[in-house]
Amino acid sequence: AAKKEGRRRARTFDPSMLVVLEQRELLRRSLRVALQHGEFFLEYQPLVDRSRTVTGFEALLRWRHPRLGVIPPIAFIPMAEADGLMSEIGQWVLEQACREALSWPDHYTVAVNLSPAEFLTAGFTDRVSQTLDLIGLPAERLELEITETVLLERTTNNLDTLNTLNVLGIQISLDDFGTEYSSLSYLKNFPFDNIKIDKYFVNDLLSDEKSRTIVRSVIALSHGLGMRVTAEGVETGEQAAWLLEEGCDRLQGHFLSPPMHVDDIRQFIAPRKGRRGNGGRGRDATG
Ligand code: C2E
Ligand code: MG
Ligand code: MG
Ligand code: MG
Repeated sequence: AAKKEGRRRARTFDPSMLVVLEQRELLRRSLRVALQHGEFFLEYQPLVDRSRTVTGFEALLRWRHPRLGVIPPIAFIPMAEADGLMSEIGQWVLEQACREALSWPDHYTVAVNLSPAEFLTAGFTDRVSQTLDLIGLPAERLELEITETVLLERTTNNLDTLNTLNVLGIQISLDDFGTEYSSLSYLKNFPFDNIKIDKYFVNDLLSDEKSRTIVRSVIALSHGLGMRVTAEGVETGEQAAWLLEEGCDRLQGHFLSPPMHVDDIRQFIAPRKGRRGNGGRGRDATG
């Protein structure tokens, strides 16, 4: 029977699955050395305020694999988490983002995404404040983005961690709001400065009344609790206009710019009188 079963399995085995598995193993092995080999880099996506002025950039991690090319975070972060590598990679992201932000004029903020593994590491807040000190970036210029998954466990410690970051002057954003647990108790209990509405709701704003109702409610709720609201994944001018009309505080998305190489963000950095300039190439968000 075993033989018969084996044959049946062999017959139905899809060889493309083998390729997928081999690729996963290849990725997993090369992920362990990617940090040492300097294969990670950050792209930056601008955020604009209500006057459509760029106020800062979100750092987004990419992996330049020597053979497979540039790999997006969704394809390797879960693996890095599972293999216990994300704490170390996250520390690299934080340092790199703070270092790169230091060369921007001093009113631009940088947002860094945190994975649960990093946030839950003992001594995480000390590490963040040491990193800021080491690099010389004021805490006010750093924004940390966490998702609700991060908050699922160890609730009292999470609150301590967030409070400590808050006292340091770091801004805290709740990312991807609306897609995970969206527990209102998080909004009541945790000191967020900012709620990021997931692109899932922004995407079909103009065609779906339900998305509009949800976005309107999240804006009202956040404002009522003293938090700012950012919409992510804004792809069109119409979506941007609607969101601003409804009181959204910040926008981010392809309508303004996709994530870009650090050298290309200069064009979004407006020159300020008597400060580091950019050769007059600055422009505002409306381009
Ligand atoms: P996120 O933090 O919600 O980042 C926003 C994602 O939406 C980014 O995808 C960005 O490229 C994409 N995006 C921006 N504007 C638009 C738009 O107008 N339309 C559409 N369809 N997409 C848009 P990306 O860079 O692939 O990152 C995916 C996720 O990976 C991030 O979602 C974040 O959760 C995670 N991630 C990225 N970098 C890091 C990191 O350094 N550390 C950790 N822990 N997670 C990261
Ligand atoms: Mg984010
Ligand atoms: Mg997000
Ligand atoms: Mg998202």
